[in-house]
Amino acid sequence: MKKILLLALVVLLILAFFILDLDRWLTLDALKQHQAAIAGVRAESPWLMAGGFFLLYVLMAALSLPGAAVMTLAAGALFGIVEGLVLVSFASSLGATLAFLVARFLLREQVQGRFGNRLQAINRGIEKDGAFYLFTLRLVPVFPFFVINLVMGLTPLAIRTFYWVSQLGMLPGTLVYVNAGTQLAAIEQPGDILSPMLLGSFALLGLFPWLARLVLQRVRRHRALKGHTPPRRFDRNLIVIGAGAAGLVSSYIAATVKARVTLIEAGDMGGDCLNTGCVPSKALIKSARVAHQLRHADRYGLNAGEPSFSFTRVMARVGRIIDKVAPHDSVERYTALGVEVVKGYGRLVDPWTVEIITAEGQTQRLSSRSIIIAAGAEPLVPNLPGLKEVNYLTSDTLWQAMRERETPPARLLVLGGGPIGCELAQAFARLGSRVVLVQRNARLMPKEDSEVSEWVKRTLVADGVQVLTGCDVDHVETNGTGMRLHARQDDSAIEIDADTLLLALGRRARLAGYGLQELGIPAERTIDTNEYLETLYPNIYAAGDVAGPYQFTHTAAHMAWYASVNALFGQFKRFAVDYRVIPWCTFVDPEVARVGLNEQEAKQRGLAFDVTRFDLEELDRAITDGAEQGFIKVLTEPGRDRILGVTIVAEHAGELLAEYVLAMKHNLGLNKILGTIHVYPTLAEANKYAAGEWKRAHAPERLLAWLARYHSWRLG
Ligand SMILES: Cc1cc2nc3c(=O)[nH]c(=O)nc-3n(C[C@H](O)[C@H](O)[C@H](O)COP(=O)(O)OP(=O)(O)OC[C@H]3O[C@@H](n4cnc5c(N)ncnc54)[C@H](O)[C@@H]3O)c2cc1C
Repeated sequence: MKKILLLALVVLLILAFFILDLDRWLTLDALKQHQAAIAGVRAESPWLMAGGFFLLYVLMAALSLPGAAVMTLAAGALFGIVEGLVLVSFASSLGATLAFLVARFLLREQVQGRFGNRLQAINRGIEKDGAFYLFTLRLVPVFPFFVINLVMGLTPLAIRTFYWVSQLGMLPGTLVYVNAGTQLAAIEQPGDILSPMLLGSFALLGLFPWLARLVLQRVRRHRALKGHTPPRRFDRNLIVIGAGAAGLVSSYIAATVKARVTLIEAGDMGGDCLNTGCVPSKALIKSARVAHQLRHADRYGLNAGEPSFSFTRVMARVGRIIDKVAPHDSVERYTALGVEVVKGYGRLVDPWTVEIITAEGQTQRLSSRSIIIAAGAEPLVPNLPGLKEVNYLTSDTLWQAMRERETPPARLLVLGGGPIGCELAQAFARLGSRVVLVQRNARLMPKEDSEVSEWVKRTLVADGVQVLTGCDVDHVETNGTGMRLHARQDDSAIEIDADTLLLALGRRARLAGYGLQELGIPAERTIDTNEYLETLYPNIYAAGDVAGPYQFTHTAAHMAWYASVNALFGQFKRFAVDYRVIPWCTFVDPEVARVGLNEQEAKQRGLAFDVTRFDLEELDRAITDGAEQGFIKVLTEPGRDRILGVTIVAEHAGELLAEYVLAMKHNLGLNKILGTIHVYPTLAEANKYAAGEWKRAHAPERLLAWLARYHSWRLG
């Protein structure tokens, strides 16, 4: 309603302007003709004149009415250069900002909702460099100002930025026109004021910030390289530090294209994923799931009972599984692929040299034209009073500690309700531990929609986990054989006793100890890289958890392709890393998988969206398997067959998601999924049924009404 009223007011004012033929006053001739009379009024009431002029200018700019050039000349003629410049500068900036706000209020939601996906790159560009673009547009008079005001209103540019950049950017032009206005009699038409020379100067001025930035970048790099002399000959084409997912894939690609590559690993080949992350956690989750199924075997017509098992054997299986996967990432395999693997700690000595200290304490230095840092991340350990005295575990130490035990922890306290905390809390609860999960946020897995968080909480609670959300941890202390955690929830103090404390509070990039600081490579939370994954030094790249923004094995591998290709062939062509379609899955049971936007993110971005849901209790295969818990939620652009994002809560959700990942990556809509044959009875059919739900909700009602008439007529 408010929008309609505003629109009506704007249209009315614009119509009034033209119907009353007010533009006849805004010509150079009219100005010259009435200059003496207006000057007379000004002499009588200078403040009234200045105020009236200011308001009129603001109104005209806000309504995008023509005549700004003449008004600016008038300012010079009537008020002189200083007062005229001040009046026009502020009035034009204010008016432009009002026009910007009107466009934002009336149209932005619709435009972003309709074209949001395709505008992503523009939005990102504006968020990053909006001030630069606007400044250039203001100075280089290619686009009319009113178009700039309106178009910028549709972007995410901050209002404050729009205002001050507009004022600054319009100032030189305003000065030229106001100055010309002081010699009004000499001007034949407004266009005479801007000579090609002057236009060229403005264009140069507009490009100045870009040039300045480029120069600044060069200077920073030059300064960083100062004092370093590149070797005349390099030992390697590429050195990779860290043999996790990012490092392995980088070196694999380099060897495939016949580059001389050395991969340095200080710990175990395979990094976190193989040794302390994905692989052991998924192996443990599988054992826990089987225990859960035995406990609930009556659901399948079998005798249920408390599973009897040896925890030692469960952990031995975890170890065996790591051993079974390990050959994929082994020194032998990579050596056979053509990668030179050196076991040792790598440290950057200069932009081209890495020093390696081997386990035996020997030191070796290698130079390389390019270097990729793939040093990964490590568990976040908070600065919690008492923590140092408590024998806490993290995902790094958990596995070894559990291998040394004969039984699972009797009372396990998990700090952190993100994916790792939820997965491990559920697994240990299913293996018989009494688990308390403490989460500071009001919900578990807060990046997901609240209904997903609720779902995860319900399933954890059903498995016996005590979930405490909105809980602020105060301190921890040793307590007899175990420990006691002191926390606050809803303003009440609570105490939790446990014998084992597992920290799952997130992971932070490994940034210290290998020369980043010494070389001045900016790295606050992660290593700073540009879109080509270059660090401050154009020949040093970073990929995987150490660079972020995602912390998954598949994103580390994805980034590795860009880092290695750019490192080896960047002199010919560089590729900007593509984060458009990133899927992930949390392996709680049922699993939670997602690609693209969920509802909360779409709302945060101000995007309009339709939601289509399909509940698994409708699916035959889910019913036969007793796996009816869960749903598929698809977000689409309103009125279009374009997928914005998908969330799946289901058994094997990670596998089900693959079809949507493919669809989004290749711009396929739900019609294509609906038109694809899926095997009956499979869980994957749920994807087709979700597409069917969408189709039904978007059926052409009018056409169907006509078809109904047609068929009843055919009945005779
Ligand atoms: C419990 C847990 C479960 C997880 N589950 C999943 C999952 O299901 N799916 C998923 O996609 N991701 C999962 N992850 C995340 C995944 O493990 C990481 O995203 C992935 O390992 C990142 O790979 P990377 O190559 O960036 O780093 P890493 O795997 O950490 O590898 C970095 C390597 O660099 C070495 N290194 C560091 N500094 C040096 C140096 N100076 N010299 C030599 N070597 C060095 C380290 O020793 C390490 O081996 C999980 C993580 C954890 C902790």
